[in-house]
Amino acid sequence: MVVGVLALQGDFAEHINILHQLDVDSLEVRTIDQLEQCDALIIPGGESTVMWKLLTETGIDQVIIKKAREGMPILGTCAGAIVLSDSHLNLIDITVERNAYGSQLQSFTDRISIENIGEIEAIFIRAPLITRAGDDVSILAHHKENPVFVHKGDILVATFHPELQESCCIHKYFLSEVACCSIEA
Ligand code: GLN
Repeated sequence: MVVGVLALQGDFAEHINILHQLDVDSLEVRTIDQLEQCDALIIPGGESTVMWKLLTETGIDQVIIKKAREGMPILGTCAGAIVLSDSHLNLIDITVERNAYGSQLQSFTDRISIENIGEIEAIFIRAPLITRAGDDVSILAHHKENPVFVHKGDILVATFHPELQESCCIHKYFLSEVACCSIEA
């Protein structure tokens, strides 16, 4: 199993580090050929406007859609959540509002409670807000009434940054519950 991390922009290196810690094969994805080698994909945090421009210019957006339709599991975090939402790739039925919590100064960490995982300290950095989730989208965690961790089929979305927190629990959840691969670490 090779887990690709979209590496056009953003904090892809932190996701790659976590995959190393979990002893999972990973690949930085900057081209369609690299994406074709992946069995699962992580779309990291960063700046969704820049990421989207690069995705559409390279044509990688279309290949993500194609592979998602074939069942490729995808984890999107923060800007990755925006890219997966109905305004961009539309691979999960959620609507998001960018920068809804305010500017960098309003970035924060807070404890959230996640179904089947437990409590974690979640890091929100200019996070998007999920303003609507379709009926078939499972909400796995809230922060102050707002959904922040959601799941539908092969797509898992966090509006926070699991790659910056100490525990690897969100990546483990993605790999075991969504990508259905066994991890030993
Ligand atoms: N505010 C960024 C955007 O709109 C997302 C921030 C992040 O990924 N930390 O793309």
